[in-house]
Amino acid sequence: MTELEQLVRSAEQEVSRVMEICNACRYCETYCAVFPAMTRRLAFDDTDAHFLANLCHNCGACLHACQYAPPHEFAVNVPRAMASVRRNTYANYAWPAIFSALYRRNGVALAVATAAGIALFLMLAIALRGPLWIAQPGGNFYAVFPHNTMVAMFGLAFAFAVVGLAIGSARFWRGQSPGAITGAAAAEASRNVLALTYLGGGHGDGCNEQDDRFTLVRRRFHHLTFYGFVLCFASTTVATLYHYAFGWAAPYGLLSAPVVLGTIGGLGLLVGPAGLFWLNVKRHPLQGDPAQKPMDRAFIALLLGTSLSGLGLLALRATPAMATLLALHLGCVMAFFVTMPYSKFAHAVYRTAALLKWAVERRQPNRLRLSSD
Ligand code: SF4
Ligand code: SF4
Repeated sequence: MTELEQLVRSAEQEVSRVMEICNACRYCETYCAVFPAMTRRLAFDDTDAHFLANLCHNCGACLHACQYAPPHEFAVNVPRAMASVRRNTYANYAWPAIFSALYRRNGVALAVATAAGIALFLMLAIALRGPLWIAQPGGNFYAVFPHNTMVAMFGLAFAFAVVGLAIGSARFWRGQSPGAITGAAAAEASRNVLALTYLGGGHGDGCNEQDDRFTLVRRRFHHLTFYGFVLCFASTTVATLYHYAFGWAAPYGLLSAPVVLGTIGGLGLLVGPAGLFWLNVKRHPLQGDPAQKPMDRAFIALLLGTSLSGLGLLALRATPAMATLLALHLGCVMAFFVTMPYSKFAHAVYRTAALLKWAVERRQPNRLRLSSD
């Protein structure tokens, strides 16, 4: 296949081409869910390509195992083909559709959103409170941004993100026509999401990063990021409950539930994304889609900015730096919320949907009867 032929081929056509070769080879049949799902098909249309692409966790095992990988003339590179289609999934199903263009220059879009978020909160802080560098006794955030102002702004941004992601994933789900969801299928998909099963590589030893060696670091950094995010979210939820249900106003003590959850979650969101950034920089050049590195790195940088500013705010909340750090932190969180449907965050939603579809599909009769799964 010439370079020109590769260029004119759409990402979905490339997935179809490599899947047809893999379907004849089957060497990687036990590596992950992609290959057993592949064996249930003889041809791969765009819908199949989007399903399989989001089922792929980019562990890299099938690239390092492949006898047809570049420089072989077949140039089979499953992780790269899948990564290219995944970005099309995010863009194709984005809501509102006009925002799908944000995926084309996603790194720039996230950088602009972060800068705008920080600038907005710095200006708001000055307008509402005056000079930023005056210490606030007790580290009271609400003396800088009134509670109701924050709730209204972040509630709206979060609701917009949830609606955008829900509409996108519902369209993806409808297009896949997966069939009825049983309890067993939902439980299996949940287990695979929470354990990140398919970041275990072909045999549970982990992913390939730079070479043929297996390592579980990708899964561990993903877990730290994911559960760090969940704990930070839990911290905010508990604080909201304290405020509205019990009338306990912030700031809370260092050993209170919101602060403990937020601190542990913040540390997870610091170590996990830092590790993922390091892996992104040193990964084998054939892995993944090089065009998506700005999207990946901008999202990781935004996570790091959020956790660093949050932990800094906790450490320095009783000092004159509090108002500035609060504006930085809120600016990062706002940028994170409004870009959730148009950033790398979308991969979590579509991958969950693909895992659920696979859990449903593998319980249905295999019409081809070409594999046991
Ligand atoms: S990735 Fe390569 S080795 Fe694995 S099934 Fe496909 S063609 Fe075969
Ligand atoms: S990169 Fe990993 S998850 Fe993706 S298809 Fe290959 S083995 Fe499966």
